[in-house]
Amino acid sequence: MRPSFLRRYSHWLLPFLAAATVLVIGARLITVGVTERSRELHRAAQTAVVSHARLIDAQLLTLLDQARRDADQVPATGIAATSAPAVSGKPDTGAFWMSSAGTVVAGSTGTPEVAGAIAQEWAGADGAARGGGGALFGPVRYGSQWLVAARAQVPARAGESQASAAYWTVSYVSLDALLQRADFGSLVKEGYDFQLSQPDPLARVPRVFLSSRAAPLEQPSLATVFAPPAVAGTPGRAFLTLAVRPKSGWYPARELSGEIGLLALLAWALAFGAYDLTHSLKRTQSVLATTRERLHDANERLAGEIEQRENLQKSFEHARYHDAFTGLPNRRYFMDQLDRTLRDLRRRRRRRIAIALIDIERLRLISDTLGHTAGDELLLQAAQRCAAALVGTEHVLARFGVSQLAVLASEVDSPAAAQALADRLQQARQEPFELRQHRLSITSRVGFTCLESGVQRAEDALREADLALSVAKQQQSQRAVAYVAGMGGAAVSLVSLEADLHVALDRREFRLLYQPIVDLRAQRAVGVEALLRWWHPVEGLLTPDRFLAIAEESGVIVPVTRWIITRVCRLAAEWRTRLPQGDDFYISVNLSAAVLRAPGLSEYVAQALAEAHLPAHTLKFELSEGGLISNVTTARAVLDAFHDMGIELMLDDFGTGYSSLSYLQLFPFDYVKVDRPFVSRTGSERANQAITSAILQMASNLGLRAVAEIVETQAAAQTLMQMGCEYGQGYFFSPPVEAEEAFRQLRSAGGFQAQTAGQEHEPLPEDSPTVMLPAGMIIESRITDTESDAEHSAG
Ligand code: C2E
Ligand code: CA
Ligand code: CA
Repeated sequence: MRPSFLRRYSHWLLPFLAAATVLVIGARLITVGVTERSRELHRAAQTAVVSHARLIDAQLLTLLDQARRDADQVPATGIAATSAPAVSGKPDTGAFWMSSAGTVVAGSTGTPEVAGAIAQEWAGADGAARGGGGALFGPVRYGSQWLVAARAQVPARAGESQASAAYWTVSYVSLDALLQRADFGSLVKEGYDFQLSQPDPLARVPRVFLSSRAAPLEQPSLATVFAPPAVAGTPGRAFLTLAVRPKSGWYPARELSGEIGLLALLAWALAFGAYDLTHSLKRTQSVLATTRERLHDANERLAGEIEQRENLQKSFEHARYHDAFTGLPNRRYFMDQLDRTLRDLRRRRRRRIAIALIDIERLRLISDTLGHTAGDELLLQAAQRCAAALVGTEHVLARFGVSQLAVLASEVDSPAAAQALADRLQQARQEPFELRQHRLSITSRVGFTCLESGVQRAEDALREADLALSVAKQQQSQRAVAYVAGMGGAAVSLVSLEADLHVALDRREFRLLYQPIVDLRAQRAVGVEALLRWWHPVEGLLTPDRFLAIAEESGVIVPVTRWIITRVCRLAAEWRTRLPQGDDFYISVNLSAAVLRAPGLSEYVAQALAEAHLPAHTLKFELSEGGLISNVTTARAVLDAFHDMGIELMLDDFGTGYSSLSYLQLFPFDYVKVDRPFVSRTGSERANQAITSAILQMASNLGLRAVAEIVETQAAAQTLMQMGCEYGQGYFFSPPVEAEEAFRQLRSAGGFQAQTAGQEHEPLPEDSPTVMLPAGMIIESRITDTESDAEHSAG
C-alpha cells in the first residue's frame, strides 16, 4: 500500500523538494534582508529625531537668549520705568515682564491676556515646584494653541529686596511656530510619524502635545530636549521628548510583500520546472521502455525468421540434394561426394575407390503397369537391399536416373575387393520384390570402375563406370562388369550429359519432331504433338527418355521449354499463312511439372503468341498427372491462366497410374490422352478392353475429348473408334516427323491405312534404328508387339 502510494506520487517529490528548498532559503534571505532594512530605518529615524531635537533645542535657546537680552536691557532705574521689551509683535510670539508673584509688571508686546495667563501659570508652577523654577516653561495651553516660554531674571538693583523684588523678562512662542522654525515639515516629508511629549513627573504617561497619529507610536526612535538647569552645575530637566517612526513601519509591508511574492513566484517556477522535468523524464523513460520492448519483439521476430529461413534452407538443401520421390540422395549429391573423394584420392588420403552404376531393367514397364509411383517404390527397395549389401563399407548410395542407382565406395582394399562388392550389389536384387501385393523379379546390370589415382574429374570417373554398365547391358551373363581401358570406343556414355545439356541450347543442338494427331472418323490429321530431340555431338540423336530427367533436375528444362514454345508459335504462324483459309490445326507442347513452378511462364506464353500473331487455340499443352498432384496450387494457378487465355489443355499419359479422373477435374483439362490403351494390365484382354472402354466413357461423361496414344495397328484404331474415341496418335498413322512432313500430313486429307510403324517418316539414318527407339523401349515395344498381336486376333 505504502510503496505503491509513494510510487504513484513519486513524480511530485522532486518539485516539492525544490519548492521547499527555495522557500526556506528565500525566507531566510528575506528575514536577513528585512532585519537589515529595519536596522537602516532605525538608524535613519534616529538621525532624523536627533537632528530635529537639536533644532527644537536651538529654538528654545533662541527664546531664552531673547529673554536674557531683554533682562539685560532693564535700566538701573527699575522695571517700573521701563517700557515693554522690544519684541516683534507677531500674534504667536510675545514678551513681557513678570514678577515672582505671577503678575505682569509692564505692558507686553503680545496679547496682555496671553501674558497674564502665562505669568499666572508659571507662578503657580513655581509654587508647586512642578516644572517651574527653570528658565523654560510650557507648553501651556491657551485657547487653541500651545505656548512655550523662556525667562531671564532681571538683576536685582541696589536697594531692592531680593525676596520681594524678583522680576523676569519672559519671551514666549507658540509651539506651532517653534516647530515650524525647527523644520518639522521635513519630518513629514521624509515619511515619518512623530509625537512630541513632555515627561510628567506626577503621571506615569507623558503629556502629548502634538502627534501626527491618533494612536501612540510603537517602538519609536526617541530624542529628548533638555531644559537648561535651574542651578548651574546640576543636570538639566528633560523638557520635551520627540518620538518618530516611519509611516510604513519598521518592516515596510509593501517591500516585504513584493519580496515574498517574488519568492513564491520563484518557488512556483522551480517546482513547475522540476515537475516538468520529472514528467518529461518519466515520458522519456516510458518511451525508452517501449522502444526497448519493440526492439526485443523485433529481435525475437528476427530470430524466428532466421530460424525459419534456416529450416527453409535446410529443406531447400535437402530438396536440392535428394530425390523427391524416393528420398534418396540424388545425382547432384553423388557428384559432389565423388568430387570430394577424388580430391582425397589425389592427396593420398585414400588409396582406392570404387564407383558402381546399377541399372534396373524394365522399371518403366513396372511404372506403366502398376502406376507411376510403383517404379519409385521398387527403386527404393532395391536401394535398401544395396545398402544392406554395403554394410561395413564407407559408401554413398544415390538415385542416379529414372532406373539407375549409383554407389561410391570410398575405401576399397583391392580391385578384387571392388569386384566382390559389385557382385554383392548384383546379387542383392535376386530375391523377388514384394510390391503392391505382387511378387516381382527384376533384372539389373552393374558396371563399375576401381580408381587408384590419375583421374581428375568426377565426370571422367563416372564415365568409366557408365561405359562398363553399357557393356554389362550388352552381354548375356548378369555379372557385374569392371571398366577396362579401351572400353570407350565400344560403348556409349551418358555421364557427361548434364554438363553438355547446359550448353546444348546455345549450341542449337535441340530439334523438334512433330507427330500427327488424327481424327479417327475423318481419317485426317487435326494437329501435331511437338516432341523434343537432342542432337548430341558425340552420342548422336537422343530421345527425351535419355535426358529429360537430367534436364528437369538441373532446371535446364525451363529455358528449353521456352525455346520450344517460341519455335512452335512461329512455325504455327507460318503454317497458317500456307494453309487454305478455314483449315484449322493445332500444335501441342509437352510441359514438365518443373516448368510450371518457374515464375512468369504464362506471361512468356502470352508474349510468344502475341509476337507470332497466333490465336491461342492453335497452341495446346500436354501435362501428365504426376507433377500436377504433387503441386496442386501452383499448377492450378498456371493452368487456369492458360485456359483463360484460350489455350486448351490435354491430360497426358492417362490410364498409367491410379489417379481418379474426377480428382483431375480440379484442373481445366479439355482432352485426355489415353496411354497405351491395349497394353496388358495383368488381366485378360477382354478385361483390358473393358477398362479402356470405361475410361473413354468416363472421359466423355466429364466432357473431356479423348486421344488414344500409341496406336500401332489398324485394328487398334478401329476398336478405339468403335469405343467412341475421337482421336488417335501413333506409329500406325505416323511416327514423329520433321516439320515439313508434318505440314504435308496436315494439309492432305488423311489416308493413314498405309502407314507402318516408324519406317517412312522418321528422318533418321537408316542404319541406327535404336536411336529412334531408345534402349529401354525396345523391350517394351517387344512386349507391346506381342500384346497387340493378340489384340489383332481379338479385334
Ligand atoms: P509422350 O508425351 O507420351 O509422347 C509420346 C511418346 O511415344 C513419344 O516418344 C513418341 O515418339 C512415342 N510414340 C508415339 N507413337 C508411338 C507408337 O505407336 N509406338 C511407340 N512405341 N511409341 C510411340 P518420345 O518422343 O521419345 O517422348 C517421350 C516422352 O518425352 C514423351 O511422352 C513426353 O512425355 C516427353 N517429351 C517429349 N518431348 C517433350 C518436350 O518437348 N517437353 C517435355 N517436357 N517432355 C517431352
Ligand atoms: Ca505428350
Ligand atoms: Ca503420352
